Amino acid sequence: MATITEKDTIKTITTHYIDGAFVESHGREVMDTIKPTNGKVIARVTLGDEDDTRRAIAAAKRAFTGFSRTTKEERLRYLRRLHEAVSARIDDLTAVMVEEYGGVARFARLIVESGVTAFAAAEKGLQELPLRQSWGKTTVTLEPVGVAGLITAWNANALFICLKLASAVAAGCTVVIKPSEMSSLQTRVMVEALNAAGLPNGVCNVVTGLGTTVGAELVRNPDVAKISFTGSVAVGETIMRDGAATMKRVTLELGGKSPTIVLDDAALDKAIPSALILAFLNSGQACAAGTRLLVPKSRLDEVKQTIQDGMRAFAVGDPADPSVAVGPMVSQKQYERVESYIRKGIEEGAEVLVGGEGRPKGLEAGYFVKPTVFVNVKNDMTIAQEEIFGPVLSVIAYDSDDEAIRIANDSKYGLHSAVMGTDLERARRVASQLRAGRVVINNMTDDPQAPWGGFKYSGVGREYGKYGIEAFLEPKAILE
Ligand code: NAD
Repeated sequence: MATITEKDTIKTITTHYIDGAFVESHGREVMDTIKPTNGKVIARVTLGDEDDTRRAIAAAKRAFTGFSRTTKEERLRYLRRLHEAVSARIDDLTAVMVEEYGGVARFARLIVESGVTAFAAAEKGLQELPLRQSWGKTTVTLEPVGVAGLITAWNANALFICLKLASAVAAGCTVVIKPSEMSSLQTRVMVEALNAAGLPNGVCNVVTGLGTTVGAELVRNPDVAKISFTGSVAVGETIMRDGAATMKRVTLELGGKSPTIVLDDAALDKAIPSALILAFLNSGQACAAGTRLLVPKSRLDEVKQTIQDGMRAFAVGDPADPSVAVGPMVSQKQYERVESYIRKGIEEGAEVLVGGEGRPKGLEAGYFVKPTVFVNVKNDMTIAQEEIFGPVLSVIAYDSDDEAIRIANDSKYGLHSAVMGTDLERARRVASQLRAGRVVINNMTDDPQAPWGGFKYSGVGREYGKYGIEAFLEPKAILE
């Protein structure tokens, strides 16, 4: 069993979860987990290797025989048990997300709660999804696709695990989860919860390790039928390419450079605070973050003033402090990445309205950056085209609705977007012309039955509700 006790100053994790048991890692490589608020080692994690992965795949393959034949009612029961077991650990999951990832407490809880909601949403989605339909002498059934590899990113590890697992279980698939290697403490709490849910052995296996070992084995192994991945475009491309050799089905949830369009009839005192919340979601380390703010040129001065006032609400600091809105970046690498983009923005001629380079005063120890807003940004600048994955917002001015739509769509990404305005019909007209998997009007909102996923480089396929379940199913027709 993993040894994590409150007395340990440095926690150690040496096990994976395979076939319903915590088993010692075959892989021997050890990775330090660093606390992002102070750069100190808080855990040592033994990473799994190809052997651990193959053991987990074999367990999932054995379990698939029985689990793929479960009835809808049985799967609904498992989803309810998962919901209950993970709900019981919301406080623990939130606390460990704050500690290990540096997620701000108020947002970390929302992320964990959305993970819990995913089980309830899958339950509803499954109830509404006809798994068998007949007409004439034809019968069509939706069959589980097989063993699925679920690979997650570090910025909302608990949510991604729940979301993917919920859809897979609803579909009757068995899984091997490869969580982000940067989320091992969070994963450990999650695995305890999943273990408590009491799924049949082998239905859910978890191997912690690197993408290039555990992840790559999942992608190339012929016994894995499907990969559901959340992460970067670069790794998404690798998965699609390498998975082709075994004809993997793939769901890829990738990056974004999401636009928020403020129409010229918007009430700025409401629209700008909402736009700032969207931009600095999860300390800017969010795929959906609205990092391009498109504003009418005619109201630019007013916009700038409202942003400066609004940014007072975005205190940066200790993520455990409930008044803090922006925590540290997850790692030194991520800190350097964000800083390099801030430098690039300045070099390319954008003007810093708020923030800028360097650590905020008094926060020199951790991976903190200054929440930064650039104005005078042109959409072809690097900071407007590339995903920074940090608290950096680019304000871009436009002349007409058509120009705003053109700029919004002038991106390789198409994950999320927002439109803010008083005339709802006009806002809807603009929303209908945006090339993105999801558009919110007048505020960040969620519906766990609505599909989530990207156009263009933001990904392939959809998650959530019945759309997420369908991604783990194969239609099969029997004709008499
Ligand atoms: P990443 O691509 O570096 O890693 C994601 C996961 O893939 C990790 O578990 C990693 O170990 C694994 N991996 C790495 N190489 C692999 C390989 N060769 N084969 C298989 N697996 C491999 O991404 P990250 O830095 O963890 O996350 C940040 C990225 O995730 C951002 O681009 C962000 O936009 C994206 N993201 C997307 C969504 C969405 O829903 N669309 C949500 C959150 C994050």
